Amino acid sequence: MYAIGIDIGGMSAKIGLVKDNILIYEERIPTGSDPDYDAFVEALRQRIAALQAKYPVEKVGISSCGLIDRQKGSIVYSNNIRWTNKHLTEDLGNRIGLNVRIANDAKCAALAEAVLGAGKSFSRVCMITLGTGVGGCMIRNGQLGEGSRYADADDMLGHITVEHNGRLCTCGRRGCLEAYASAPALTRNYAELTGEELSAKEIFDRARAREPQAGAAVASFREYLADGLVSIVNVLRPEVIVLGGGMAAAAADYMDDLRRAVNTLVFGGDVLPVEITTAELGNEAGMVGAALL
Ligand SMILES: [Zn+2]
Repeated sequence: MYAIGIDIGGMSAKIGLVKDNILIYEERIPTGSDPDYDAFVEALRQRIAALQAKYPVEKVGISSCGLIDRQKGSIVYSNNIRWTNKHLTEDLGNRIGLNVRIANDAKCAALAEAVLGAGKSFSRVCMITLGTGVGGCMIRNGQLGEGSRYADADDMLGHITVEHNGRLCTCGRRGCLEAYASAPALTRNYAELTGEELSAKEIFDRARAREPQAGAAVASFREYLADGLVSIVNVLRPEVIVLGGGMAAAAADYMDDLRRAVNTLVFGGDVLPVEITTAELGNEAGMVGAALL
């Protein structure tokens, strides 16, 4: 079965041809910060038509940054590409004669990990993305939930409270998981101890070299992350948590302690422990996940 997965990001849109869930071809078209919408849809139509001429493409899915109305099939708002209320599934679907579906990039990546990557042997998979922010997505039986307009409950997992009256979060509230378990949070942990602003990667490197302040900064990140994951597991009961994003690249440094902490604290963790692992698919997860929609 041939499907096309399109991954719209801030710099470019990747168009992937996926055969039986495996990416076999990919090309890019630039988007830039303020792309002309009609020209973009036309560029997609041309690329898709060229693929349709060679392969029996059955469906098209789109992974997009920004706020997505999955039911209506539209991009409500994207801060990266500055589009509002674009009914992309209809505008593209009418031109190519195929049904088009859309979901946000975090959901598409989680779907790909759940079905084909680190979560493939589990039926309840929660993906947590640790990067500039903290994102989450729950996949049950290889499916996204039915979706509501604009946002689903699991879109907000980065904004559960882990510290009453704690640090100010990007969302305007205080004490969110994102304010303690994102890359900027680790930078802040270290700066509060030393006055020095380093990247998350540099802090992990220094912790590995046994610098005490870096070790303390990483430990604080890990402890708050454990608290956040415990609340997530107590509510959603996934069988596995898949960590993705930039902070997961250093997961080997904190994974054993994190697993132990979560399964000590979570309700029933001694009899029904939750598995925690890292994402397996790379940059192609968006395209492959879109093709699964
Ligand atoms: Zn928040």
